[in-house]
Amino acid sequence: MKPRAVLSARGATRLGAGHPWIFRSDLRDEPGEHAGLVAVEDERGKPLGTALYSPASEIRLRWLAPDGVAVDAAWWETMVRAAAARRTGIDATAHRVVHAEGDGLPSLIVDRFGDWAVAQFLSAGLEAVRDQVVDAIRAALAPRGLLLRNDAPVRERERLPRAVETAFGEVPETIEVREGAVRYLAAPRSGQKTGAFLDQRENRLLVGRLASGRCLDVFAYHGGFALHLAKGGAAEVVAVESSAEALAHMARAADLNGVTIAGVEANAFDWLRAAADAGDTWDVIVLDPPAFAKDKRSLERALAGYKELNLRAMRMLAPGGYLFTCSCSHHVHRGDFFAMLGAAAQDAGRRIQLVELRGAAADHPELLTVPETGYLKGALLRAL
Ligand code: SAH
Repeated sequence: MKPRAVLSARGATRLGAGHPWIFRSDLRDEPGEHAGLVAVEDERGKPLGTALYSPASEIRLRWLAPDGVAVDAAWWETMVRAAAARRTGIDATAHRVVHAEGDGLPSLIVDRFGDWAVAQFLSAGLEAVRDQVVDAIRAALAPRGLLLRNDAPVRERERLPRAVETAFGEVPETIEVREGAVRYLAAPRSGQKTGAFLDQRENRLLVGRLASGRCLDVFAYHGGFALHLAKGGAAEVVAVESSAEALAHMARAADLNGVTIAGVEANAFDWLRAAADAGDTWDVIVLDPPAFAKDKRSLERALAGYKELNLRAMRMLAPGGYLFTCSCSHHVHRGDFFAMLGAAAQDAGRRIQLVELRGAAADHPELLTVPETGYLKGALLRAL
């Protein structure tokens, strides 16, 4: 018998609305100690289904399956296989296979990098069934090796240790990946997230198709956008990034592609101000900053930061030039983001067309009932 968790009426309503998280305050009764699978019931004792239980987290339950469905080894494998089967038509050898809540597997991330896979176990409940999940990944995806990037800070809220471990096989330091016409070097052990920013894949391909003339990639990291711009036929590509290490990595990838990118180690805010003041112009600009709004309180300051960047970029667009701009802050909602862009265009004194609204690549499914699955907002803009 699995331990039991009993929902309050409000908890049951929340679940009915399609959100898989149940908070501490929405529970009537809970096992109290061991993380792992629990049987969920409503206040009258009616069995509802199975969830992951995290005794130390504000998010106590993460919903898995309704009553009558056994959450066993076969279930995990079926779920991972189903998620993998939904990823079709991807023009890259690296992509996300399991996007946690977005694929009905809360707190589990699985990314594929060529022959290898990298996973993250982001809740205590999931960690408790780690062996079964690892077996499911092995059976469904048959990677040569599986790395667990369990060093994400959110694990602390689950009172889980942070570590990078190999679950099975051997996983190299860098993995060469193809993305459209570009090759890049994912760094599964030491890179951001699981080794690369896979969520921007489709946006990088889009931007690569626009490449021409002078192109600028700001907040470049390993040069994801810059490589596509250079390979796409830009006359000149400049990449601005504060991390010297990231720029060195980008230089290796540029060599691999036989292209030239001018890496500039600088604070993007200072660099953009100076370039705009100097009257620089660009045919394509990419702004892909880190999340400025870490919580709701920092929202206003974050929006001011985004506006400053976008305003300066808009000023520097050549007539007909494109700006691809984005925000990955969960707390900056779409409405906030577009209002900020409007204000920036106004202050820049430019007529700016909204060419296309963008989000994360389709292998990062965003659920309408689970806003947390869709943090990345992007816009392709054009100066008229
Ligand atoms: N565009 C990249 C991902 C960018 S991640 C891709 O598609 O792969 C954001 C990057 O911004 C990080 O590499 C970080 O080092 C850099 N960064 C953060 N603050 C910065 C600042 N003030 N100036 C310049 N770069 C900064």
